[in-house]
Amino acid sequence: MLETLHAANGLGLAAPQVGVSRMLFIVDWSMLDDADGEEIEDVEVYINPVLKKAAEKTAMGEEGCLSFPEISARVERIDQVEISYQNLDGEEVVKVLDDFPARVVQHEYDHLMGILFIDRISARERSRIKPKLQDILAGRIKTFDGSQKDETEVGS
Ligand SMILES: [Zn+2]
Repeated sequence: MLETLHAANGLGLAAPQVGVSRMLFIVDWSMLDDADGEEIEDVEVYINPVLKKAAEKTAMGEEGCLSFPEISARVERIDQVEISYQNLDGEEVVKVLDDFPARVVQHEYDHLMGILFIDRISARERSRIKPKLQDILAGRIKTFDGSQKDETEVGS
């Protein structure tokens, strides 16, 4: 999965996106810049994650997804979440994340629940991205399934 993530130049990848029915996702935090000097481990594997909201506050932010190439849209997310999961060593970990990292784990966790970021956008955003979505549905933009070897060809 990590190879796939890097091949796609992505930040996060959930197992169902590559046809694996497992409750896990990976995030490569090194894709983020570490402006506030916070300690960020590079690649993290979140196994059997459970998300809880840790704040009522929400924030809007731009998201994209490897499963929806060429689309980005504004999504409202909880600003702070608590995530409990097992790491690769089988240890139970509990973390509180906020801002962008909170957004990333919510996006990836949603994949495990069968929810896509386009399910969470406003009607206005939906109509804005509709042409691209139709291109994807019609196969004119090839979606990411982990099997791409060549550059995706985009028809017009
Ligand atoms: Zn995604």
